[in-house]
Amino acid sequence: MSLVIFWTSLFDMPLLVLARKGGLHYDAHNSAPISGPRENEGVVMARRKKIYEGKAKILYEGPEHGTLVQYFKDDATAFNAEKKAVIEGKGVLNNRLSEFFMTGLTQIGIPTHFIKRLNMREQLIRQVEIVPLEIIVRNLAAGSMAKRLGLEEGTALPRPIVEFSYKDDALGDPLVPEEYIIAFGWATQQDMDDIVSLALRVNDWMSGVMFGVGIKLVDFKIEVGRVWDNEFPRLILADEISPDSCRLWDIESGQKLDKDVFRRDLGNLTDAYTEVAKRLGVLPSNVTHRPSKPTLIN
Ligand code: C5P
Repeated sequence: MSLVIFWTSLFDMPLLVLARKGGLHYDAHNSAPISGPRENEGVVMARRKKIYEGKAKILYEGPEHGTLVQYFKDDATAFNAEKKAVIEGKGVLNNRLSEFFMTGLTQIGIPTHFIKRLNMREQLIRQVEIVPLEIIVRNLAAGSMAKRLGLEEGTALPRPIVEFSYKDDALGDPLVPEEYIIAFGWATQQDMDDIVSLALRVNDWMSGVMFGVGIKLVDFKIEVGRVWDNEFPRLILADEISPDSCRLWDIESGQKLDKDVFRRDLGNLTDAYTEVAKRLGVLPSNVTHRPSKPTLIN
């Protein structure tokens, strides 16, 4: 009987090998049928239960209670999924970059859901109860803010501005005032104070790190979730931080190194993300991409 292992990209470890090495532990008797990402392309996946599939990521049941495995897909979507594409290597880059940002934020005392990276597309995270808000911090006017207020993109703001959208794809994640959030019970006043303070600390650290590698942090989106430690709820940073969820402009040239490259058809998205990863030292500077290719092992 022959054993087939498929590689998903240059960066990917064969998942089957990883599972055997003990990198992934799933209960084969108590889980859903194989339903892995890109299964049609023949990726050999450990059996595990899918908890949730979003536009760019999939969450699987984790090896221990209170944990999940977050899988980064190559799918790119924009304008509430009206524009879609599969961009090879994006998931690998976002997994590495989100690990980099979450680890750095943990080191300065910001609690996050990140536990450890499992392989090139997956990370082990804490399970949280997501607060249904997209928390956006802006340093310069761009995107929807520039459009809404008729500002030129790149206009400096008087100070960092934090805004909130209600997470609801069917409604297109509408911008909401704090008043709505508290009145509808999506978060309490104390939560909102904690969220704003956390968002501004993330902004300070991220802006400094990006400035250090010649990149302006124009804006970004984060999500937070609730966890219980000894019966006490607290909010921690969740989801991901990557060029999918930030606007990053080269300080000298103004070149966009984020998802606007895809949204606005400005070139190759993986090249832009690879540039960010290289500058941050997340990938070695001589990395190149190789197309997916199955390998047959007898
Ligand atoms: O589109 P807008 O200008 O409101 O986006 C602000 C920031 O939030 C951008 O960095 C964008 O990439 C991010 N964002 C996101 N997910 C969304 C909406 C915005 O990551 N659903």
